[in-house]
Amino acid sequence: MTVDPRLTLTDVSVSYPSPTGDLDVLDGVSLTVEPGEFVSIIGPSGAGKSTLLHVVGGLVLPQSGHVLLDDEDITGTTGHISHMPQQPALFPWRTVLDNVLLAQEIAGVRGPDSTDQARAWLDRIGLADFADSLPHTLSGGMQQRVAFLRALLSPRPFMCLDEPFSALDALTRSDMQRWLLHLWEETRRSVLFITHNIEEALLLSDTIYVLSARPARVIEKVVVPFDRPREESVVDSAEFVRLRRDLTSLLRDAGARLPGASVGTAGSGLRLPDAASTPSALTSLELS
Ligand code: ADP
Repeated sequence: MTVDPRLTLTDVSVSYPSPTGDLDVLDGVSLTVEPGEFVSIIGPSGAGKSTLLHVVGGLVLPQSGHVLLDDEDITGTTGHISHMPQQPALFPWRTVLDNVLLAQEIAGVRGPDSTDQARAWLDRIGLADFADSLPHTLSGGMQQRVAFLRALLSPRPFMCLDEPFSALDALTRSDMQRWLLHLWEETRRSVLFITHNIEEALLLSDTIYVLSARPARVIEKVVVPFDRPREESVVDSAEFVRLRRDLTSLLRDAGARLPGASVGTAGSGLRLPDAASTPSALTSLELS
C-alpha cells in the first residue's frame, strides 16, 4: 500500500484586496498532516477555513508561507489534492461507476483494472446494485458516499474533505460520520477535514487544529486521546463530553472576537490534552 505524503503548511498568511483595504484572512497558519493521519480544522464561520483549503489546493497563492507535500514545495500549484466538497457534485449524466472513476479518467490513468477496483469498492460500501444507475436515483447520503469514493480512488496523493456532511439532515449526517470512521480506519489515508461540527471532529480525528476568528491563527492543537479502532460509543464517554464542552467554549470565545483583535495563546485555560502548547511552541515543535 502506498504511503501518503506528509502535508506541511508553514506560516501561511493570506490577504484579499478589498475596496476598503486588504482583508487579512490567514495570519501565519502552520500545521502538519502526518502520513495516515486524520486532521480536522475547526473555526468560526468566516475565519478562513475555505481559504486555507484553497491554499492547500493551489487555488489561492499566499502572500507568505509555504505548502509542502513531503519535501516538494507545492505552494500555488494545482493537481496534488483530491477534494470532496460540501455538495456531492456528481455529474448527473454519468453512472455512479463513471462518477467514481472521473478523477482517474481526467488524469488519464483509468485502466482495465479501474472498473473492477471501483466495483469492488462500491460493493464494500453497499452500493454495488447502483453502479450502473444515475446519481439522481440515490439518496443524499448515498451520493456523498460516491463522492468520497471518487476522492479516495483519485490518483492525486492527498485528500481534503470540505464540510462533506453539512448539507445532510442530522440523522444521515450521524450515520455518515460513523460510516466514514469505519471506512477511514480501513484505508488510513491522510485526510485534511474541514468542519464546524465539534462532535464530528472529535469522533473522526487524530488531531484537531482550532482557528481563531479572522484573521485566522491556530489557537489550539488537540491531540484526540481516543484509541483506534474507535468505538462509536466514545461519544458518550466523560472525556468526550468534556472535550466537546471545552472546544465549544473555546470556539464561542474565538468567534466572539472582533476581526483583527488579538486572540491570545493556546494557554486559554482549557484542559485539552496538549493545552501546554502555545501556537509558537506548537510551530517550532511541528516544524523541527
Ligand atoms: P470560512 O470557510 O471559515 O467560512 P472563508 O475562507 O470562506 O471562511 O472566508 C474568510 C473571509 O475571506 C470572509 O470574510 C470572506 O468574505 C473572505 N473571502 C473569501 N474568499 C474571498 C475572495 N476570493 N476575495 C475576497 N474575499 C474573500
